[in-house]
Amino acid sequence: MVPLQEKVQFYCEIFHLTSSNRAEVEKKYQNLEIVCKICENKIKIEKMKKHSELCRIKNESNKEIKDQDNKISEIVFNAFLKSRNLDTSLRVDKYPTKFFMKSP
Ligand SMILES: [Zn+2]
Repeated sequence: MVPLQEKVQFYCEIFHLTSSNRAEVEKKYQNLEIVCKICENKIKIEKMKKHSELCRIKNESNKEIKDQDNKISEIVFNAFLKSRNLDTSLRVDKYPTKFFMKSP
């Protein structure tokens, strides 16, 4: 973990501040929020590292769930088509005169 002193120094550098008023700078640093590139939520900079790891795992899990969901949908749809074709075949087999013209 990076010590707060280094974080404040970094904060001062990127925002071109002097660290003369250390308490104020520390407070600003702790309240600083940045936007997560994955979920686009504003996250406090202190929690960003942990959030980033968890957010990435969550994102990958959601993607995997979506892929599995698509596969399940495809299987269910194919099962429905087979069932419908079987039903049609059974009806044709049961009532052939209704489906085929009798030869003259
Ligand atoms: Zn996120």
